[in-house]
Amino acid sequence: MRLLLVGPPGAGKGTQAAVLSEELGIPHISTGALFREHIDGGTPLGRQVKEYLDVGRLVPDEVTNEMVRERLAEPDAAEGFLLDGFPRNTAQAEVLAGMLREQDAELDAVVELDVPEDEVVERLLTRGRDDDTEDVIRHRQQIYRSETAPLLDFYSDRLVTVHAVGSVEEISERALDSVRAVR
Ligand code: AMP
Repeated sequence: MRLLLVGPPGAGKGTQAAVLSEELGIPHISTGALFREHIDGGTPLGRQVKEYLDVGRLVPDEVTNEMVRERLAEPDAAEGFLLDGFPRNTAQAEVLAGMLREQDAELDAVVELDVPEDEVVERLLTRGRDDDTEDVIRHRQQIYRSETAPLLDFYSDRLVTVHAVGSVEEISERALDSVRAVR
């Protein structure tokens, strides 16, 4: 299966992606995690993107798209994947569509984790990642609303909305049920 996971920062994408990828036997590809690995490893790409992650701005599309293109070309992603954090805007979505067309593949579903904004801000403030200061959190929510939320319309023909308030297990169960229903 080829899936995307979409939702505001703090919706639990990382947590749910780990469960879904395990249950469905597909690799979890998180652009945020890939960027953080580069930063921690001190690679040239890491040095290039650090300032964006530090302030919660989107890394330029060319850089992000190229990293995703390389990751999707790896053998483990040939039959399916769960993309988490990409695409973040419609320009990236167009590029992804092109990459998939080249492989004669398409997305099976786009899973939206739906959580009220007050709840996500609260969750992020208790998560304590380096980029989880209140200003950065607000900025990332604003970017989600203006840049990423339009993807919900872009993918309306394959959108699966999951109510993402409750325990991790309850939410995973809802997400798995909805994804299995489209297969
Ligand atoms: P995340 O782990 O998904 O919250 O992403 C952390 C940070 O990585 C974001 O605030 C952005 O700076 C950067 N990032 C992750 N995915 C993307 C993307 N698709 N496009 C641009 N920047 C991204």
